[in-house]
Amino acid sequence: MATIFSMIVAGEIPSYKVAENEQFYAFLDINPLAKGHTLVIPKREVDYFFDLTDEEIGAMQIFAKKVAEGIKRAFPCIKVGQAVLGLEVPHAHIHLVPMQSEKDMLFTNPKLKLTPEEFKEIAEKITNEIAYDLTPKSWTD
Ligand code: 5GP
Repeated sequence: MATIFSMIVAGEIPSYKVAENEQFYAFLDINPLAKGHTLVIPKREVDYFFDLTDEEIGAMQIFAKKVAEGIKRAFPCIKVGQAVLGLEVPHAHIHLVPMQSEKDMLFTNPKLKLTPEEFKEIAEKITNEIAYDLTPKSWTD
């Protein structure tokens, strides 16, 4: 059975898409730790992040870097933090979270409740900040 994230990639479940190329998909976490909290996933269904191939991890990290740059421009922060947990959804993903302090990375923190309009606005804001290099080639340059 497809994972919930594969169903998102296939458009069978809606998501607030931030960016996409042939291999990877970025979308807002539905229970965000902060405005701009984004998930980056490979389209290929793999549960454990470290079971991805070396090439996939390299390319995924470059894709995540572009997304993180967009998040930082859209939501000014000290740094964008990155975390890999994967205890809830068995489809490898990188969390990207804009940080004002170390505490913003605590996954036990209460999650933000945002309206669909707010999610849409956040996703668009990030997309607009990375749109300049959305062509697939630039992800692997
Ligand atoms: P983890 O597996 O890294 O512990 O957490 C999975 C993350 O995926 C959680 O932060 C959770 O909010 C997010 N998540 C779970 N299901 C969905 C979903 O259907 N849509 C979106 N956008 N995020 C989800």
